[in-house]
Order: sequence, then structure tokens, then C-alpha cells
Amino acid sequence: MFADVLIIGTGISGLSFAIKLAMNDPEISMVLISKDQVSEGNTKYAQGGIAVVSDFEKDSFEKHIQDTLIAGDGACNPEVVKFVVEEGKDRLKELMNWGTQFDTQQENLHLVKEGGHSEKRVVHYKDHTGLHIQQALVSKIKSFPNIQILENHTLVDLITDHHSTQKHDRCYGAYVISREEESILKISAKITVLCTGGAGSLYAHSTNPAIATGDGLGAAYRAKVHMDKLPFVQFHPTALYHKVNGNTFLITEAVRGAGAKLRNSSGERFMDQYDSRKELAPRDIVARAIQKEIQKQEEKFVSLDCSDLTVETWKKRFPNIYETCSSLEIHLPQDMIPVVPAAHYFCGGIQVNSKSESKLKGLYSIGECSSTGLHGANRLASNSLLEALVFSHRAALDVLDALKKELPDPSFYDTLPEWKGDTYSNSVEIKEIHHLRLKLQEVMTNHVGIFKTSEGLQQADIEMLEIYNKVQEIYNQDRLTHGLCELRNMVSIAHLIIKQAQSITENKGVFYNQDYA
Ligand SMILES: Cc1cc2nc3c(=O)[nH]c(=O)nc-3n(C[C@H](O)[C@H](O)[C@H](O)COP(=O)(O)OP(=O)(O)OC[C@H]3O[C@@H](n4cnc5c(N)ncnc54)[C@H](O)[C@@H]3O)c2cc1C
Repeated sequence: MFADVLIIGTGISGLSFAIKLAMNDPEISMVLISKDQVSEGNTKYAQGGIAVVSDFEKDSFEKHIQDTLIAGDGACNPEVVKFVVEEGKDRLKELMNWGTQFDTQQENLHLVKEGGHSEKRVVHYKDHTGLHIQQALVSKIKSFPNIQILENHTLVDLITDHHSTQKHDRCYGAYVISREEESILKISAKITVLCTGGAGSLYAHSTNPAIATGDGLGAAYRAKVHMDKLPFVQFHPTALYHKVNGNTFLITEAVRGAGAKLRNSSGERFMDQYDSRKELAPRDIVARAIQKEIQKQEEKFVSLDCSDLTVETWKKRFPNIYETCSSLEIHLPQDMIPVVPAAHYFCGGIQVNSKSESKLKGLYSIGECSSTGLHGANRLASNSLLEALVFSHRAALDVLDALKKELPDPSFYDTLPEWKGDTYSNSVEIKEIHHLRLKLQEVMTNHVGIFKTSEGLQQADIEMLEIYNKVQEIYNQDRLTHGLCELRNMVSIAHLIIKQAQSITENKGVFYNQDYA
């Protein structure tokens, strides 16, 4: 299979990049692949919204820039922060033109305030903004005949010169598993774009869906692409303690923005002991405070007191949370919601320039799997959907140019080798894989979570090496399965996180080693 552009991932990053490229040049052939159904991924689960300055009477670009820099704890790239904030307004307009609606109030966008924001600036669609965006983009993308979407196709590895010359100079597409046909395809492309999202599934509690296993990062690692800030994993302070259909369910920050208070098991409102911004302090501060209270009180969770929010507010603003809590016999607003911190967002990833291009020629990376310099050591709430939109646009314009430049002759792509070695099997279930995945999550949660220590990281390094060796053993048996592909990526990224964490000697943003406190 051949395409001008191969896009791996169909969340907000992959879809908005493809739409932008197709709108600029409908002749460009594109193949978009998603590991699961086209709509599954982190985007669909975003509740809060997108941070964009739109009320210029009260708010300003400068205020949003400052809020982002403060949350990032001195580790953001100020130039990137500036252009992302300033370009957000146009990208939001475009998203609305592509069919996404946001809540309004008296004909203006309804704006909410989230943790770390000095003004109300988050646009949203009730409390399921991500789902609404995802649905609008999926429906828009279907109007372009030159875009082929392949669901249930899993990236295995990127194709680089390494496959023929032992060098990693350029990317030429990817090897991909077709789960239906139980085969491994070679999809060659002039440009390859990784939009594979985060890796929350490295941890036992994560707000991400189970498919967030860092596959793009794993493939990039094997292709020797540079990755940075991987240990900067943001934990969302308030995930529902009870699992919903086996998944961790998020209680958006906007609930605290609307007045909900955090209380420990003695009923005390504790956030004022940790930060003057109380419940609306940046996420790292709130997550650490909750974790400390849980440890101090020897409890499993803290509680979100929502008694100041009316039933009408719940039904109108947060219907998704209201219904989910009701189904668990948590009756709002009188009952408190039990909450715990959970792995939520990867601030680091594949290092890219201001056009989302990686250091490997022909390879771009957009969205959560990239590291652009926007988030620094801690992402400001609702800045990630914004980042995805701004960088998709910039990448699309750059790819338009890149496709006009000198590229390998079309016949060259036929000479790229087919996948060698392992065969894929949909039906082989290797029990050991499930067990190793749980073990990996345990190691990451115990030693590489909110609070780290140098000794814990060393222990994690040893235990991860054991897991890696077992994964390699299974891999060498020549039976590639979907679960094995995911585990191979998870163990690579876990290893990288531990190694990078060991080299950090100063606490910043979400990174917290107790030995440096
Ligand atoms: C519960 C929750 C709430 C959130 N709320 C907000 C919010 O309010 N505001 C905000 O700005 N951000 C929020 N975020 C973060 C934000 O949703 C994500 O960072 C963003 O949606 C990432 O988009 P993406 O396109 O980069 O990746 P995703 O939307 O995660 O898409 C990843 C895509 O890659 C594909 N993929 C992965 N691996 C492979 C593979 N091996 N082969 C083929 N395809 C693959 C998947 O199938 C999927 O299509 C939230 C995240 C979560 C989990």
C-alpha cells in the first residue's frame, strides 16, 4: 500500500491535520489508521474543553501566556507558548466551521475557569466536549474522497533507512497489523505523521482508555527518534474512586471551578494548607495534596463536596458526571464524590519543532505523543486540545511544502522490504502478556508515580529490566499479537521514563522526587 501521507491516529490531532491538508490540496492521497474504532482515543473522553482567549474585555493573550508559563514551572518554550495562545482563536473558529458546537450564553461562547487559569476562558460542550469534537471531525473527514480510513490497524514499527542501510535518516511509512486479515502490511508514504496519543495505561489508575499504551513513542524509540520530558506525567487530581465498566472515570476540573470543595475523611477542607489558590491551584499541587491527605488519613480516597452546586447545574453543565454518579448510587448534590489522583497526560514525547516535525526526516508528530515546548514541566488545564489544533495546522502547511520538495522517486518505495520474521495471530492468547502488563503497571505506580525516590527509581529499573527480558523472550518466539505489540511499547517507554527520571536532580512541575524536596 502507498500514500502520499500516512497518518497514524484518529484523535483530534490526526483528524484535524488530515482535514486541513485535504482542504488545501484535495489531490494528496492519505491513509489514516486507528488501532481500534475510529473514535476511540483520549480525545473522546475530554470533558472540560479548550482554553482559548475570546473575551477580550476581561481576558488577554498575555494573561493566558502567563498562566501557561507559571503552570509549566519555568520549563516551557516561551515562543511556542506565545504562538499557540495567539493562534488559538482562529483554530477554534475553524473547528466550529467544521461542525463542532460549543455552549453559548447570550450568543457568546460560554466560558469556564479551570485550575491555574486566571480568567474564565475554557470553551466547552456540556461535560463531553471531546466526544462532540471527535464526532464532528469524523463526520467531516468522510467528505474527502482521497482519505482512506483503516480501523483496527495497529502500527508495529516505522520504516526507516535502517531496514536497508542500518541508518535512521528518513522515515518511509510503517509496518501495520491488519487485525481483521491477521497480516502485517507495509504502508509506504512520502510523509508519516504520528498522532498516537499518550500512555496513561502504564499506570494502574489512569483516566486514559486502555489503548493509550504509548505505541507511537515505542516505535519512535526503536527508530532512534529523540524524545524528551517523558517523566513529566501529569496526574489528574480528581478521578472517581470507583471504576466504571473497568475504566477510571474523570471528574473534570470544571466541577471545582463551579465551586466544589475537597475534604478529607475528617471532613476538613484541606487545600488551603497547601496553596492559596485552594481547589483551583495547578493540577500537580492539588494531586500531591490529595495523595498526602490519603496517606496521612490512611484512607483510599478524599471527597469532593458538591453541595454548593444545584441539581440544575449538574444536569445542564455536567450531565455525564451526574448520570455516572447516579448509576453508582452517589446522589448529587447531597452526596460527596470519592476521588483519587490518576495518570492523565504525558507532557513529554517526541521532540518536534514549531511545525511538528521530528528530527527524523519525513516524520511528524502531533498532539499528546509530541513534545512541543508548550507544557514545560506541567500542562495547564485544557491546553492540550488547543496544542493539537495549532500544531495540526502548522504541520499541514509544512507538509504541503515538503511534498513539493525533492523526494525519493516513486519506484523507490517498491524496493522497501516487507515485514520479516514474526507472523501475526489474532487468536493466540498469551496469558503471560496480561500478567506482565499488570506487573509493569504495579512497578510504575509504586515507584514512578506522583511521589518518587531515588531508591524507588533504582528498584523500578531492576524490575523493569526483568519484565523487558521476558517480553523479548516472548517476542523472539515469532508470534506477534496485538497485546504483545502494546506490551513491547509499554516496557520501552517505562524504561525510558525511569532512565530520564534518574537523570533529573531538581523537582519541577509534575516531577517530584522526595529526595530533592
Ligand atoms: C478523561 C480525559 C479528559 C481530558 N480532558 C481534556 C480537556 O478538557 N481539555 C484538554 O485540552 N485536554 C483534555 N484531555 C487531554 C486530551 O484529550 C488529549 O491530550 C488529546 O485528546 C490527545 O489527542 P491526540 O489526537 O493526540 O490523541 P488521541 O485522541 O488519544 O488519539 C490517539 C489515536 O492514536 C491511535 N493509535 C494509538 N496507538 C496506535 C497504534 N499502535 N496503531 C494505530 N493507531 C494507534 C488511536 O487509535 C487513536 O485514534 C483529557 C484526556 C482525558 C483522558
